Amino acid sequence: MNTVPNIIKNQRVFFKSQKTKDITYRLKLLKSLKKEILEHEQDILDALKKDFKKSEFESYISEVGLVISGLNLAIKNLKKWSKPKRVKSSFLTFPSKDYIYKDPYGTVLIIAPWNYPFLLAMEPLIMAIAAGNTVVLKPSELTKHTSKVITEIIQNTFPETVAISIEGGVETSTILLAEKWDYIFFTGSTKVGKIIAKAAAKHLTPVTLELGGKSPCIIDDTVNLKLVARRLVWGKLLNGGQTCIAADYVIAKSNIKHKLIDALKTEIIRRYGKNPKLSPDLPRIINTKNTKRLANLLKDINIVFGGEVDIDACYVSPTIVDSPSLDSKIMQEEIFGPILPILTYETNEEIEQIIWKLERPLSLYLFSNQKPFIKEVIEKFNYGGGVINDLLIHFGNHRLPFGGIGASGMGKYHGKHGYETFSNAKPIIKRGNWFDPSFRYAPYKGKMSLLKKVFKYLG
Ligand code: NAD
Repeated sequence: MNTVPNIIKNQRVFFKSQKTKDITYRLKLLKSLKKEILEHEQDILDALKKDFKKSEFESYISEVGLVISGLNLAIKNLKKWSKPKRVKSSFLTFPSKDYIYKDPYGTVLIIAPWNYPFLLAMEPLIMAIAAGNTVVLKPSELTKHTSKVITEIIQNTFPETVAISIEGGVETSTILLAEKWDYIFFTGSTKVGKIIAKAAAKHLTPVTLELGGKSPCIIDDTVNLKLVARRLVWGKLLNGGQTCIAADYVIAKSNIKHKLIDALKTEIIRRYGKNPKLSPDLPRIINTKNTKRLANLLKDINIVFGGEVDIDACYVSPTIVDSPSLDSKIMQEEIFGPILPILTYETNEEIEQIIWKLERPLSLYLFSNQKPFIKEVIEKFNYGGGVINDLLIHFGNHRLPFGGIGASGMGKYHGKHGYETFSNAKPIIKRGNWFDPSFRYAPYKGKMSLLKKVFKYLG
């Protein structure tokens, strides 16, 4: 196999050849990628099942389907997205025609996590290629079957000078990060995000960090609890609770706590049966290490539902925890599993105390029918994005930018926002030569008062 420095060198040579600037070439690559993915559809679904027992339905709705629709969108809009955008000229640049060109960065490194291993490797890859970059992708080592299919798809679609998948774990990542890149796109934990940011800083490489954290779900007492339970159980247990934007914990109005817990219990049993271990629809925890981590979080807290753990089977049953202290382990780290702590509040100040105490979350959810309260929660807190009266679905609209803030990440993507993430917005002014007032040129004597007047009116 080629060495990493050689792969990068060859990609740079290809990038400089200007071939990826050709929109027809990019379209051809995207169409071949789509064809290859469609041909491998069943392989992808099988691989996800082997990796962590993810059901075909969940694999399709949350991975394959989203990737195909992302490809369709890029293919449909590429010509429009890539066109230089004319903007209004300024009084200061007159006479001129002013544009924003979208320039690819060059050679991009994408590092993907295991929890949506196909989606979170493919979506950045699609947008990086659409924007005219070359790509080295490192899929996750924890989802070996899916990573193998990803590598095969990429191998069959792209010459190595355009895109390559390099499988491996931390060692491979470390080798890749030692190199100089033109852009790094990372999805994973906040802890590793800091390692990525440090490596990028060495070369001042721009980065997008799609990280995790503890996303709260606030529930007041004006809601239909049956509907809330239905949506909350879906959003919490999708992917076995291993979703970066899952509700990590609930803050419920104290007068509805018991009814909410009852509604959640009923809903879990309705969807996954009395013994969820037998359900074909509940994915497993990714490995024994993470199952043990979750088992540890369940120590010395008040479990009111579930709590069953089978380390060897990588199984944790859907679990509800009543009122853990903010200093307990379960409230200190991202849970990333099917465990839902329920905290309560009496006054809005108590909600603030909880949310401000923790890092800025990737998502925030609110179930409420009170307009002023909804407005307050949308405007008051800093978080990556959110949904009122449901969970997760902001991820599904490609018109919305997706990403975190603070410890939950930096930079946004999805749809056109993804195309822009992988493009340098390059301002270009084409100056007219027919008029060249002498005002800006020295000597400046006698020009100051007019200068001040001009700037006071400019906007
Ligand atoms: P992770 O940070 O452990 O690993 C992510 C990637 O980084 C993997 O490819 C891994 O090989 C690599 N890596 C791990 N340790 C490394 C190191 N020391 N140096 C260099 N590279 C290293 O994350 P994960 O366990 O795969 O994924 C779960 C995390 O990702 C959760 O925190 C979750 O919230 C977050 N996540 C965020 C988003 C988002 O869009 N914001 C999406 C999915 C997952």
